Amino acid sequence: MQETSLAYWHGKERKTIGWYPTIDEEKCVGCGLCVVTCSEKRNVFGYDPITKKAVVLYPYNCMVGCDNCRVACLWDAIHFPDPNSLKELAREIIDEGIIAGELRKKIATDKSLIL
Ligand code: SF4
Ligand code: SF4
Repeated sequence: MQETSLAYWHGKERKTIGWYPTIDEEKCVGCGLCVVTCSEKRNVFGYDPITKKAVVLYPYNCMVGCDNCRVACLWDAIHFPDPNSLKELAREIIDEGIIAGELRKKIATDKSLIL
């Protein structure tokens, strides 16, 4: 399911960010590793029992910058854009103080994170 709590990435509308996996159907052997690797909250992948291949169902549930499923796929069937394409956006949210604000809030609510 498209997860509404994931509609924004640090204040930026998630659907404006082109970060999600694509599957090379020729290479996919249908092992399902990508399906079980992605978190249950995100569930980006589905599985087609007819073609016996994984499919990308909810691309915008994908965590921006994550590529765990690409690493998990031993058949090199999953591809992502160049991570450098995210750097400008990352600099934007850092310069806007969004990350610093989130970090302050997180540390304030979880003292175990303070060294
Ligand atoms: S891990 Fe790779 S080979 Fe396995 S189902 Fe996913 S895309 Fe296909
Ligand atoms: S990159 Fe991470 S969040 Fe995105 S689909 Fe793969 S495992 Fe899921």
